[in-house]
Amino acid sequence: AAQKPHMNLAFIGHVDHGKSTLVGRLMFEAGAVSPHIVEQYKKEAEAKGKGSFEFAWVMDSLKEERERGVTIDIGHQRFDTDKYYFTIVDCPGHRDFIKNMITGASQADSAVLVIAAPDGVMAQTREHVFLARTLGINQLIIAINKMDAAKYSEARFKEVKEEVGKLLQMVGYKVAEIPFIPVSAFVGDNVIARGDNLTWYSGPTLLESLNNLKEPEKPTKLPLRLPVQDVYTISGVGTVPVGRVETGIIKKGDKIIFEPANVTGEVKTIEMHHEEAEEALPGDNIGWNVRGIGKKDIKRGDVCGHVDSPPTVAKEFTAQIVVLQHPSAISAGYTPVFHCHTAQIACTLTEIKAKLDPRTGAVKEQNPAFIKAGDAAIVTVMPTKPMVIEKVKEIPQLGRFAIRDMGQTIAAGMCMNITPR
Ligand code: GDP
Repeated sequence: AAQKPHMNLAFIGHVDHGKSTLVGRLMFEAGAVSPHIVEQYKKEAEAKGKGSFEFAWVMDSLKEERERGVTIDIGHQRFDTDKYYFTIVDCPGHRDFIKNMITGASQADSAVLVIAAPDGVMAQTREHVFLARTLGINQLIIAINKMDAAKYSEARFKEVKEEVGKLLQMVGYKVAEIPFIPVSAFVGDNVIARGDNLTWYSGPTLLESLNNLKEPEKPTKLPLRLPVQDVYTISGVGTVPVGRVETGIIKKGDKIIFEPANVTGEVKTIEMHHEEAEEALPGDNIGWNVRGIGKKDIKRGDVCGHVDSPPTVAKEFTAQIVVLQHPSAISAGYTPVFHCHTAQIACTLTEIKAKLDPRTGAVKEQNPAFIKAGDAAIVTVMPTKPMVIEKVKEIPQLGRFAIRDMGQTIAAGMCMNITPR
C-alpha cells in the first residue's frame, strides 16, 4: 500500500443525503471494516432478533457509536483501491473540518459530493460546493444517492444532474470533466458492484471514478515555501526547524531566508524519516539543519524560502471570505485570529469592501455596514503582527486561511492582493 499514491478524499453534501452511509458502504465493500467488527455486528444483529445480517443496521450501529463518542471513526479511515490509498478526511459538520482543511492538516485533494435523488440540491449542497471551490478542491465526483428511493428513475437522475451541473458551473468547475453517478448507498448499487437496478447507466461506478481521479501534481515548480512547525536545538548539530514542504524544492547547500523573522542561513542537512536526504519535495515532512541561525531567531509560523524569492510579508491584504457561522454580525474593526499555514495571528478587518453572492461571486452590495453567516465578502485585512501570506493565484498553498474566534471557525478565505511590508 505504501507504494500507491496517496489521496485525501472528503465527502461533502447536505445533511442526511447519505454521506456516512456511502462512506460506510465503500469501506465495508472495499474490505476496510475489519472482519471482527463485522462479525461482532452480525452476532448483535442476531441477538436482537434481526434474523439476517443487514447492512443498514450495521451503519446505524456505527452511527450510534459515533454519536456516543465511542467512535469507530469513519473520518480519517483509510482504504485502498487498485490505484490509490485514500484517507477520508472529516466531513463538513464535523467540528474542525474547515480549519483542518485550510491549515493543511487534512487538505482534501478531491471530494465526493453526495446528493439525495429525491431531494436534489439543498442549502448545504450549495454551501459545500462553494466551500470546496474556495478551499481549492479541484476534482469532484458527484454521487446522486438514494436512487432506490427514487424508483431508480433515469428521468429523475437527469433532472438532478442538470440542477447540480448548473451549480458547479456557476462556481467555476468544468462540468464536462466531472462524473455523475447514480448510486444507492443503502442497497449498494454502483458503489463497487453495478447491480441490476440501474441498467440504463453505463458510466463508471463510484470505485472506478475514484481510480480515475488524477494524481495530484506536486507543486515543485513554485517558489520554495516551508512553514515552520517547531524549532529544536540538537546538541552537536545545531538549530533544526521542522515542517512540511508546501511548494518548491529544498536542497542541501541552499541559501535560505525565514520571514517575517528576516534571518538568512544555509541548509547544512535535511532529515526525512530519520534518514539524511539530499533534497525534499512538496508533502515531505522534514527537519533541516541551518548554519547561521539560532533557536531564538525563528519560531512556529515563520516561513522558509530561498533568498532570491523570499516569502511575502504582508502589511495589509485584501481577501475573499465566506462567513460560515457567527452569532451576530461582523463589521469593520473585528479582530479575530487568522490561521494561515502554521501561523496564528490576530488580524483586524479594517474594511468590508463588498458583499458577494456566495454562489456566483457577483457583487451584491458595495461597502456594506456588516456581514453575517452565509455571506461572502471582499475585505481588507491588517495583521496585528508581521505575517507571511501569498496571493492564492500565485501560491495557493499559502494563500488560504481560516478565521477563528470563540473556539469556532467563523470564516474561510483566500488572499487576493497584498501590500507588502
Ligand atoms: P449524512 O448526514 O449525509 O451522513 O446521511 P446518513 O448517511 O446519516 O443518511 C441519512 C439517512 O438516509 C439515514 O437514515 C440513511 O439510512 C438514509 N440513506 C442513506 N443512503 C440511502 C440510500 O441509498 N437509500 C435510502 N433509501 N436511504 C438512504
